Amino acid sequence: MKILSFLLLLVLAGCFSGCRQEERETVYRPGTDLLEQAYTTFREESLSERRFKHQNIEPLIRKRMEGSSFRVEELGKSVEQRAIYQLTYGKGPVKVMLWSQMHGDESTATMALFDLFNFLEGRNDDFDTLRSLLAENTTLFFIPMLNPDGAEAFKRRNAYGFDINRDAARTASPEARILKQARDNVIPDFGFNLHDQSIYYNVKGTPKPATISVLAPAFDEEVNMNEVRKSAMKVIVGMNELLQQYIPGGVGKYDDSFYPTAFGDNFQKWGTSTILIESGGYNDDPEKQFIRKLNFMVILKALTDIATGAYQDYGETRYFDIPDNDNQLTDLLIRHLQVQRDSAAYLTDISIKQGNSSVTRDASFIEDLGDLSVLYGYEELDAEGFQWQAGKLYEQTYASAAEINQEEALSLLRKGYSAVRVASPGGEAKELPLIILYEKAYKPSRPQIGEKGTFFISKNGRPHYAVVRGKLIKL
Ligand SMILES: [Zn+2]
Repeated sequence: MKILSFLLLLVLAGCFSGCRQEERETVYRPGTDLLEQAYTTFREESLSERRFKHQNIEPLIRKRMEGSSFRVEELGKSVEQRAIYQLTYGKGPVKVMLWSQMHGDESTATMALFDLFNFLEGRNDDFDTLRSLLAENTTLFFIPMLNPDGAEAFKRRNAYGFDINRDAARTASPEARILKQARDNVIPDFGFNLHDQSIYYNVKGTPKPATISVLAPAFDEEVNMNEVRKSAMKVIVGMNELLQQYIPGGVGKYDDSFYPTAFGDNFQKWGTSTILIESGGYNDDPEKQFIRKLNFMVILKALTDIATGAYQDYGETRYFDIPDNDNQLTDLLIRHLQVQRDSAAYLTDISIKQGNSSVTRDASFIEDLGDLSVLYGYEELDAEGFQWQAGKLYEQTYASAAEINQEEALSLLRKGYSAVRVASPGGEAKELPLIILYEKAYKPSRPQIGEKGTFFISKNGRPHYAVVRGKLIKL
């Protein structure tokens, strides 16, 4: 009898899982091949670098004002009178709002939105099923580049100096008012809050950059759960499944403390299932074009899951399996370097950042010294057994930097020279791995915070590596 009931259980279990699987198979799920092909086909070629302005995207919007697949309207103007637009696609019952670049220097998702616009207005191809699914089941409201004045200067804040993401409650800036008004007009079921984060965020406990971070923001101080937030978590679980195939271990979960003046938190509070996507860093992707592709694919996948309802199958508890973000990355990390000071020697690690908009410095600099064993570098060198050596100024003066080629520069580095003097300015100085001095006095660098990262890593007085403007060169 026991065996019989066990068998019966097995049969029942088999039937249940079989039936459920069958049901799921009828739900349309685009494969990664299809999503990737869609990106390649519809990438907006006129946007190929991170720094672009309102004037670069306005023609791409205005050309869609008549006879396109979108309904385009001007929602209002920024402080400096730049138009902010909304593009609407589809006629389905589920309303989704997507806004990008409320921080002016966070442009990755804006590029992906224009790729999506191209995709959505295509026709008679392999993507028709996906398109009509979106058009029939959802209405998509896109607001690209919410902070055009910030984008003009490639800065985070708007022309008042406000962080728009701290103006959701008071709405004292026109940009925040525009977003709040759009929200109140549409009352979206889902919201996508699209940002970039520091490239120095890593996935906690690992050296991997948090190339994409996600969050279903809290709607109250207690970080409670409700159905609205759960739906956002489920969509994120599906997004993470896709992302792990492209950036295994490269997805982080953003801090979910409630921020009473932030837009994501308030959208969630107002009843819109809100998903934050933060584009971080990735090796050798300074213009974030690979991350833009990930944005395109993951947004399209999320929209499809929303359109089909497939997101409801993802268990929201899996959201908590996504590891947290951390802030432990640097550009170049040199470990265990010995420094001679007077008659004593000491051991230090050296963290060097290249300088870019996310650290608001243009040149490389030594950011930290001491025991940095908790940090990770995009590039790392274990300099155990090596010594710090300051660079020397070459005795001979060159007519100009144009006289020096790469080969000669390397040969100078091998002899411990990191700086040369030139009689006239100009030339390709930036390309050469040397400090080119025209009139400025020469100051040998020291292992101090804030100093430019130019020095040698030597053994018995012979340089084995040079670090020039924060870049490591093997000699
Ligand atoms: Zn942001």
